Amino acid sequence: MQRRPLLFVDVDGPLNPYDRGNRSARRAGYVRHSIEGFTVKLKRAHGAALLALPFELVWATTWRDDANTLIGPRIGLPRLPVCEFPSGDEGAPEPVHFKTPGIVGYAAGRAFAWIDDEVTGADRAWVAERHGGPALLHRVDPAAGLSAADFGALAAWAEDPVPPAP
Ligand SMILES: [Mg+2]
Repeated sequence: MQRRPLLFVDVDGPLNPYDRGNRSARRAGYVRHSIEGFTVKLKRAHGAALLALPFELVWATTWRDDANTLIGPRIGLPRLPVCEFPSGDEGAPEPVHFKTPGIVGYAAGRAFAWIDDEVTGADRAWVAERHGGPALLHRVDPAAGLSAADFGALAAWAEDPVPPAP
């Protein structure tokens, strides 16, 4: 049996949506946490929903390994591997996202999906050129956070993983 694809998970935006006026006050299921001086809104159900997807989860966040102690336990996620991001010469030129080279390097040809509020067409093109396997770069609306539609898109792609359309 083939290994499951990887799923790279960003925290700020997908799991911790940004405030937009009053909308955040009534976010169903979100709990506010004060973490190291930051207000972080997390939805406990996201943990189980991520674990139910046919992927192996990997943190891809500027929280780095702190996601394992400060974010994961609050939504019921076990300790996950952490993707690191190279900088300087190993990075990618703008407008490619600073995370993109690290993600492609970590995947090393293995099929992957990546949920992030900051992915753009430049990242899809960069991945299409350099990653030898299927990939889904899925942008999450940071005003809404991960939605049922996002989970549906991930599950649908996992059934038939294809390379990114540049
Ligand atoms: Mg983000």
